[in-house]
Amino acid sequence: MLQRQKLLLKKNLPRARSQLLWVKLQIFKNLIFFLDYIKIPNISRNYDSNWSTNGLLEKAANHIKSWIEAQKLHGLKIEYIQDPQRTPLLFVEVKGAKENSPTIFLYGHFDKQPHLSGWDEGLGPTIPVIKDGKLYGRGGADDGYSSFAAILSIKACQAQKLDHPRCVIFLEGDEESGSQDLPHYLISLKEKIGIPSLIVNFEK
Ligand SMILES: [Zn+2]
Repeated sequence: MLQRQKLLLKKNLPRARSQLLWVKLQIFKNLIFFLDYIKIPNISRNYDSNWSTNGLLEKAANHIKSWIEAQKLHGLKIEYIQDPQRTPLLFVEVKGAKENSPTIFLYGHFDKQPHLSGWDEGLGPTIPVIKDGKLYGRGGADDGYSSFAAILSIKACQAQKLDHPRCVIFLEGDEESGSQDLPHYLISLKEKIGIPSLIVNFEK
């Protein structure tokens, strides 16, 4: 390794270590939110004939909304939107550091795949379990982590007083059913979204 790189690494190591500690602390502090989300059986509409009356997609969306609000991000606006006969959507905007900041569009979803069978002993779709450092339960990886990852990334920037662009986070509740409502919401929110210079897709 070049001498200059060695020096740079030495200089930045304490900061990198403290950032890693900050991230670990945030994961620990917010884990309960994630575990509670897994407990909600909000299966996507194609696999749940009662989706429009059982309120489960709404419950999951509101659970995520409350957690996002509790993070107290600077410049946050969050809207719960549910147009008639449509699945709910969470539309989040976080102001950029500068007035003319570019926009980043971050996409995720909170509806879940069907429960199915064949879970190992002690595991299940709505029983969040951490085993060997992995979190089991339906919807954790696909795609409930998206709100968690997007919001904590922005929070990390704000905690370190780093400038970040304007962020639009689009969390839909219909992805596992083919995102039937996605075009409708993208069109109706076109003006509010603006023109993104980067699109980040958290879908696994
Ligand atoms: Zn997915």
